[in-house]
Formats: sequence, C-alpha cells, structure tokens
Amino acid sequence: MNIRLALIISCLSIVPSLAQATKWQQILERYSSVMTVQEKEFFTHVQKRFAAGEVPVIAAPEIIQIPIIESGDGLIDLKKQFLSRIEMLPDPENGQLYASPTRNAGHPNASKIRCTLFDCLALMLCKLDDLAGAFDRTPGYIAIKVFEGLRDINLQRQLFNGKVQQIQAAMPGISQEDAQKEASKWISPVNNNVPAHSTGAAIDFGLWCNNKSAYVDMGILGTIWEHNPGPETFSDADGVSDEQKINRLYCLLAAHRAGLTNYFYEFWHYSVGDRYDAYFKQRDHAVYGAVGS
Ligand SMILES: [Zn+2]
Repeated sequence: MNIRLALIISCLSIVPSLAQATKWQQILERYSSVMTVQEKEFFTHVQKRFAAGEVPVIAAPEIIQIPIIESGDGLIDLKKQFLSRIEMLPDPENGQLYASPTRNAGHPNASKIRCTLFDCLALMLCKLDDLAGAFDRTPGYIAIKVFEGLRDINLQRQLFNGKVQQIQAAMPGISQEDAQKEASKWISPVNNNVPAHSTGAAIDFGLWCNNKSAYVDMGILGTIWEHNPGPETFSDADGVSDEQKINRLYCLLAAHRAGLTNYFYEFWHYSVGDRYDAYFKQRDHAVYGAVGS
C-alpha cells in the first residue's frame, strides 16, 4: 500500500468518530462548572434514569396517583400581556389546529396559562440572561416563543384517540392496550388522568434569538409533523447534535432555576405545580387540576 492510499484510509477511518455527537454524560461533565453541585447531581441522576428507561412517562402510575389539591390560581392570556420576550408563535394562517411547529396550536385556549406559570416564565428570562455568557449567548436577546399552554379536556381526548389510531396504522397487530401505552408517551390520556395541558400549568415552547433572528436550535419541536430522531431531552440518538444538546441544557438549566420541571420525553414541554412537577420535587400533592372540570 502506498503512503497516499494509507493516508486516505486512515483519514476515512477517523471520520465516523469525528462526526459522532458527544454523549449527554460528557456534556453534563463539560458544563459542571456552570451548575451548582445540586443541579449537577439532579440532572446526572435524571439522565442516568432516562438512559436506563426509568424516567416515568406523563401518565405513569407513580404520577397519576399523586393527589391534587387545587390552589385556585387564575389564568392569564399571553396574547394580552404584550411582553416582547414571552409571546405566542404566530396564529396558523388558515386556522388549522396543530398546523406547524412555527405556528401556535391554533385553538382559543392555547395562549392561556396559570398565573404562577407566567411568573416562572418571566423569571426564566432572567435566568437565561444570567446563563447567557456560559452558553455563548448575549444577555437580553433570548425570547420564549410559546406553541401551546392550556388545552381543554375535549380537545385532549380527540388528540389522544388520534395518536392511538396513528400508532395502530403504523404498527398493525399492536394491541389496543399497547397502542394506548405508546400514545401516552406523547399525549396524556384523559381516562383516569388529569392531562398536564388541561391544568393550564404546562406549556410547550421554543427559544428565539432576537439578535440572530433565528430559533435556538434544540432539535425538532413536536413529533407530529416529521420524523423526530430525538425528542427526549437527554436523547443520545443519532441526529441530535452537540449544539442541540448544549442548547437544551441552556434551556433546561434556566427553566429549572425558574422553578419549572421538564417532561423529559419532550425537550419543549415544561410545567409547574402539576403532578409531574410534584413528582420530581418530591411533593406529597400537586396544586393544579383540570381547568373547567
Ligand atoms: Zn406539552
């Protein structure tokens, strides 16, 4: 073998390792100086549990058994707040529900959230600014773009049944029970459950960088428009880049410091005071039931 050929082969052999994304464990290690000891412990623990398949889905028995003592916290409408750094994505042009990840969900309740959740989002802006330097961002320029807040119970039922049918069409032969179990990873069921979005205390959002006029790339928001290689926050799947993982960590850390809990199967979903939040904060009850029920 001549030297030139040997060099080409040796270069080719290192290409896959260069292209491979860094694992989450190493990302958390790399950013450990940005986190407090407790934050690093918490996220490392969750990441390990996720990798072991032990993080509960949104309607897992240990979540839905948590009692709810409704606090009576009111709702605010984000469309009436006029804050430049917390706003709804544009309405879908033709009024179609769930038309695209760059438009809001398109139903009248999507812009409504609990007052406490709004306070957390406002605090999150401060935390995004505090953390901006560590994540190569400029303080004051990151905005929260909301896809959906409150979703009423009837709409939730329609969405869940639609997801079950979609799974059954994609996996012929799957039992009804397994299809419902799979669907419940993405959409919270209505029977024997209080869906997170129906409490008004859960929200789906992306981050927008005002000085670059571009989304902060955390990956593909949603699972209904195109194949999503890694919607789970701590996904090490092919197709989730280092940049996306670092941006997810930036969002996660700011949200955590603002009192929000991520749904670790969807990097874009956060909540406060619902059962999922109560579970991770080890509270003995949640404070939000379904709105209007
Ligand atoms: Zn959500």
